[in-house]
Amino acid sequence: MKSNDSEIKRPKNFIYEIIEEDLKTNKWGGRVHTRFPPEPNGYLHIGHAKSICLNYGIAKDFNGKFNLRFDDTNPEKEETEYVESIIEDVKWLGADFGEKVLYASDYFEQMYLWAVELIKKGKAYVCDLSAEEIRETRGTLTVPGKESPYRNRSIEENLDLFERMRKGEFPNGAKTLRAKIDMSSPNLNLRDPVMYRIIHQEHHRQGNKWCIYPTYDWAHGLEDSIEGITHSICTLEFENHRPLYDWFLNELGIYHPQQIEFARLNLSYTVMSKRRLLQLVQEKYVDGWDDPRMPTISGLRRRGYTPQAIRNFTEIIGVAKRDALTDYALLEYAIRDELNKHAQRVMAVLRPLKVKLINYPDDKIEYVDAINNPEDPSAGTRKLPFCKEIFIEQTDFMENPPKGYYRLTQGAEVRLRYAYIIKCEKVIKNNNGEIVELHCTYDPATKSGSGTSNKKVKGVIHWVSAHHSLKAEVRLYDRLFTIENPGEKENWKDYINPNSLEIITDALVEPSLSNAKPGDKFQFERLGYFCVDTKYSTKEKLVFNRTVSIKDSWTKKS
Ligand code: ATP
Ligand code: MG
Repeated sequence: MKSNDSEIKRPKNFIYEIIEEDLKTNKWGGRVHTRFPPEPNGYLHIGHAKSICLNYGIAKDFNGKFNLRFDDTNPEKEETEYVESIIEDVKWLGADFGEKVLYASDYFEQMYLWAVELIKKGKAYVCDLSAEEIRETRGTLTVPGKESPYRNRSIEENLDLFERMRKGEFPNGAKTLRAKIDMSSPNLNLRDPVMYRIIHQEHHRQGNKWCIYPTYDWAHGLEDSIEGITHSICTLEFENHRPLYDWFLNELGIYHPQQIEFARLNLSYTVMSKRRLLQLVQEKYVDGWDDPRMPTISGLRRRGYTPQAIRNFTEIIGVAKRDALTDYALLEYAIRDELNKHAQRVMAVLRPLKVKLINYPDDKIEYVDAINNPEDPSAGTRKLPFCKEIFIEQTDFMENPPKGYYRLTQGAEVRLRYAYIIKCEKVIKNNNGEIVELHCTYDPATKSGSGTSNKKVKGVIHWVSAHHSLKAEVRLYDRLFTIENPGEKENWKDYINPNSLEIITDALVEPSLSNAKPGDKFQFERLGYFCVDTKYSTKEKLVFNRTVSIKDSWTKKS
């Protein structure tokens, strides 16, 4: 779409509206600063991509800044492998986070000092209750919580105990630091939440410097404050944590970003929680975090998705205030649309059936012109070898076709894409009655582009030369789950689709693909969009992933 200054521009979504208003009122002195704060406890998924595109998109559209900050406050589940994969994925999506990656763990000292400040104000205390006792005394939505017997420790005692917690004098779980707020608050998050717990565990960046670690609720708002984030955009489940973040920031009297919540992306036929994705990996339901069936960014990349397609998808789905389930088909639409514009067309036969052209000269080889991309004339043409023996798709021949079947049948004619019209004269079967070969005649006057005959047929099918084509493995993927919303089931693993991967080991592809490199993307005419697998494809053995299927666009009726 062309932008035109005289047109009234509508804000893209409600967050844009808020920011435009803030810029008008000069709330942040003209600044816009967003961030993406992943916890490095798994690989990123398409939901994270939505958050990245939203936050980075805002920074870009308003000439602001965008931070990539690891929320690495829990040493128990975090690994360097995840940090590296996340950086790679964010870069691949095209989000520019400036010179350096930020880490919440770099702020541990500052957070500690702020905790001491709250203790000194009488707003935090060291509690000896166990995690279970804290849970039990928290109360419910209808029953107020019970105050901890340690709640009224003196400031001096709290300061002393907190320092000794830091020094490592107590074992895991022996004590916590809790905010002193209100055990009967209607908002459970305000019932003296835990700020620090004792975890004697090495941290991936801090080593053994710390044995007390801040909770997410204590740390998160502080991280945004330290970095001067203006709009702290998060998903809806944090809406009722906001009063707690506000309480911390107000008690400390420090810079106070504005939190804005939006609905997280839920996608049909898959799961999105990192905990569950980890189970799929660990229990070997899939071949790693980057398995092409996974909703992870690395999985989608290996499947053949492009950053542009993912960005377009996040634009299409928009940003809302209410949770919903997004149809997986929308994601497929985005990549199909993108590959339709840019992917080179090639011929490939997944389940080959041999065709002998009995009236074609034995040793003749012709090179026919094939269009590389009808959507992009600048992509040019290429030469395809054609000879007496070719392979067609098994499904393009039927002995007893239904009415309206325009592909090949005995005695009928069909066009071979870019070549000739052929007619099936004889069906050859083996002893089991299975069709193993077709004997056909070709009509020399019907050559595509230069034929003299004006004969027309309704069916057009693809083919490869029997003597020039290359063998390839092709992996066809189906949905990972058999039901639309496995995420809402306790027994979600019972709904894993046992047939989500089909491996075809003896497909045939046209010879031009001998130069294909891992990651290259193609349209196999009539079959779909495929890419060369980055994990298993080698010079000796081509392996393709089907990215997405295609609607048959040039046979009038199948
Ligand atoms: P978990 O899967 O364990 O709930 P998470 O996906 O929330 O974890 P984080 O690393 O905390 O993992 O997420 C980083 C950021 O990505 C957060 O700001 C979060 O709001 C956002 N995010 C996570 N999942 C989605 C989603 N499905 N849709 C949109 N944004 C998301
Ligand atoms: Mg989270």
